[in-house]
Amino acid sequence: MKRIDHFINGQASPGSGDRRGDVFNPATGQVQAHVALASPADVDAAVSAAQAAFPAWAATTPLSRARVLFKFKELLERHADEIAACITAEHGKVLADARGELTRGLEVVEFACGAPHLLKGEHSMNVGRDVDAYTEYAPLGVVAGITPFNFPCMVPMWMFPVALACGNTFVLKPSERDPGTPMLLARLLREAGLPDGVFNVVHGDKVAVDALLDDPRVQAVSFVGSTPIAEYIYARGSANGKRVQALGGAKNHMVVLPDADLDGAANALLGAGYGSAGERCMAISVAVCVGAATADALVARLKPMVEALVVGPGDQGAPDMGPLVTAAHRDKVRGYVDAGLAEGATLVVDGRGLHLAAAPDGFFLGGCLFDHVTPAMRIYREEIFGPVLCVVRVPDFEAALALVNAHEYGNGTAVFTRDGDAARQFAHRVQAGMVGINVPIPVPMAFHSFGGWKRSLFGPLHVHGPDGVRFYTRLKTVTARWPTGVRAQAEFTMPTMK
Ligand code: NAD
Repeated sequence: MKRIDHFINGQASPGSGDRRGDVFNPATGQVQAHVALASPADVDAAVSAAQAAFPAWAATTPLSRARVLFKFKELLERHADEIAACITAEHGKVLADARGELTRGLEVVEFACGAPHLLKGEHSMNVGRDVDAYTEYAPLGVVAGITPFNFPCMVPMWMFPVALACGNTFVLKPSERDPGTPMLLARLLREAGLPDGVFNVVHGDKVAVDALLDDPRVQAVSFVGSTPIAEYIYARGSANGKRVQALGGAKNHMVVLPDADLDGAANALLGAGYGSAGERCMAISVAVCVGAATADALVARLKPMVEALVVGPGDQGAPDMGPLVTAAHRDKVRGYVDAGLAEGATLVVDGRGLHLAAAPDGFFLGGCLFDHVTPAMRIYREEIFGPVLCVVRVPDFEAALALVNAHEYGNGTAVFTRDGDAARQFAHRVQAGMVGINVPIPVPMAFHSFGGWKRSLFGPLHVHGPDGVRFYTRLKTVTARWPTGVRAQAEFTMPTMK
């Protein structure tokens, strides 16, 4: 059986304990590897390596750090097939989707290659007579990233390229369900010339996470995952004096107005609702239809499309979606479908009976479509994280906006319309961090920042882009006077500009 070790100080490390986790191939249902689950001593070793590497890495020039990242980008491109295959084998998503995930992560590396520009401060001449002021962005030290299963490549790359470019050293605690890809990234970073100890990976569960949160040498924690854990990470990390950004779960609504291009809206819902089997934090899980006629027309279009979804192993042919990540998660999603029926929603397409003769033990579930969902139902309130789309019917635009704004999550949202005024109203009044106008999955590009509002993000700063640079640096402002022959007198009042 394949064994997946930690990556500490530039080399694989089996760790000190004997706890191991199963890594499944979700398409076959078989265990394909055992991953080491870190003990506090393993986390201590990783943080110690990162701490020891920090002074030298912080002292390198931003340009030389960028050159390592340029090389890393080249290596990612060269090894794209290997990385995508690893993502698909452990997560289950289809190969083309895995390639897309890599591309979005790679774009953050490209952004971080601009380190010399990103770290430029500001300068003010003569803030007082013969006095100048300038700002610098200093790295924090050792920073940690804790990431979810659904993007084993992209989400770690939302974090570490920017953190490393800013001069920090990094300890990654990826999801224990698909730990193989982060190990490939670690190997390629080393090949790109990153010094040992600058990037470390510890696998594990709550034991590893708590050790990172409690280690006083860890200056900042970036987390992406479910909301209950995000809230916990934010509270414990902040209580320990760390800077924390914790991105949580989502329930993304797409509002369809009566004047929308309904064929376009149906296609958008199909891709955004069922792509990656709905296991995306930016998946659309609720279609809010304004007016009964809009809802009837949209459901009539969606029904045959959802029924025709091609489901299968992500590395065979080109299915629309692969399996869910584990049997437990598949059963949880199926339980939501049972609950929706029991609560009185109309199950228009039932994917629970899907059976694939060629992959009988895989964690597959067919696409499910609910109509007449109401805000009181669990399938509306909770994040399902599977191939289940809920249609909610509302009478008008204001009711649609109020519905989106009343939900506890505020990650992404979208409006489909031809009415510029309605779209503008929606974009400005909606309580969500990322908004699409006729764009179903408005994931910001690497040079913007990604993050939600409300209970989808704990902490003030989003990830990557300008917020990422702010998160991984602290500002220093220098005020300088050089002797000019005039000797400064002692001043006892508050210094003001003279
Ligand atoms: P999760 O919260 O179960 O796990 C995320 C990380 O936290 C993993 O590394 C895991 O090992 C660790 N963890 C789990 N339980 C823990 C505990 N009790 N104490 C400490 N650490 C713990 O999330 P997941 O199932 O891996 O990922 C899916 C979730 O992530 C969904 O809710 C999804 O919306 C969310 N997500 C959000 C975004 C975003 O940008 N907002 C992006 C991707 C995924």
